[in-house]
Amino acid sequence: MAIMKIIQDGDARLAQKSSKVSVFDARLRKLVDDMYETMYHANGVGLAGVQVGVMQRIIVVDVPPNKEEGEKGLRIALCNPEIIKMDGSETTPEGCLSVLGWVGDVERALNVVVKGMALDEKSGKWKEVRVKAHRFAARVFQHECDHLNGTLYTSRVTDIATLHKVERDAEREEEIRQELAALRDATNKDAVGDTGA
Ligand code: ZN
Repeated sequence: MAIMKIIQDGDARLAQKSSKVSVFDARLRKLVDDMYETMYHANGVGLAGVQVGVMQRIIVVDVPPNKEEGEKGLRIALCNPEIIKMDGSETTPEGCLSVLGWVGDVERALNVVVKGMALDEKSGKWKEVRVKAHRFAARVFQHECDHLNGTLYTSRVTDIATLHKVERDAEREEEIRQELAALRDATNKDAVGDTGA
């Protein structure tokens, strides 16, 4: 696996539309692994191909569980994702690994259904799925699908006054990395508990 360079706002590719994935081969599988590693290294919860300079409709998502909200975690690699249903709305702060150091309020649908080709990590095969997502996970899907159409969240900020800089030093980044890793471990344990019951 390898950590890829995440391109930043100002790079023209971020405004371009990505093309459909049509070849599901070993190279694609390696890309998925590299995208996950890159995302974890950057403390992200979602990453689109274009952000690592691959102009194909592919996203990886790993949203940790939120115990307070009673929400399970979700890890998925999806090709050609399409939001086929959305309802409700919520406005909360959003950030992006390609617009580092900034956050701003964005209105998003509260619930989405996304369809696409998902990687089954055990068999290595891709199969068509429909995924329901709520709240934060729904937001991540909307944000990543926007990337595939060349849209950055900054163009969706509801009130420009909410767009502001956040300072995060190396120490804080490491803390966040550990917090996220601990939360994601809990996801795996939950999954084992579910199937074992
Ligand atoms: Zn982003």
